[in-house]
Amino acid sequence: MTIYIKQIEVGLMQNFNYLIGDPETKECAYVDPAWEADRVLKIAKADGYRVTKILLTHNHFDHIEGVDKVVAETGAEVVINPDDEQPLRRGAGRLVKATPGLMFKVGGLEIEALHTPGHTPGSTCYLVSGRYLITGDTLFQGNCGRSDLPGGDPKILFKSLRELAGLDPTIKIYPGHDYGTKPVTSIGYEKEHNPTLRAKDFAEFDRLP
Ligand SMILES: [Zn+2]
Repeated sequence: MTIYIKQIEVGLMQNFNYLIGDPETKECAYVDPAWEADRVLKIAKADGYRVTKILLTHNHFDHIEGVDKVVAETGAEVVINPDDEQPLRRGAGRLVKATPGLMFKVGGLEIEALHTPGHTPGSTCYLVSGRYLITGDTLFQGNCGRSDLPGGDPKILFKSLRELAGLDPTIKIYPGHDYGTKPVTSIGYEKEHNPTLRAKDFAEFDRLP
């Protein structure tokens, strides 16, 4: 099955936004809208896509700042884990609870919500068509997200990273920030090169700088 994935760097914190769509139905999801929602919506429109869902990887401001605007412009549903829905404004669109293992569709694309807490309690990775993984701030190229912010927990993050490391190595990774040496990576590459996935146990993980 073919897929439309557009990676767009936005704002001043090297955030990656994504448009992920079905080329047959021209429906797409918009991941973590922030900072430049107008520009990203224009790109979707120019490519012929209609935004029907907003996928949120977690509730930090630099990943949700544009949600209200995108809901107002598109009427899209907002998908987020219940543990992270707190700062979203009530009534700002229909919320879909990204409970662990939730499966849903965008056009013909099957998307699974993987609960990967540790950066925040409700951090969620989205596995699209079983082959493309949106990781938010849980996993970056070469590193993982921080666990020292409110709601973060290094032990829980380590467990989540272990689960991601157990996925098919050919799965491609689309992170929430452009912090690495390349914008798109894979489970296999990170298992080899990312110290946070290479750590044998929590003690080793916890010693990383
Ligand atoms: Zn974050």
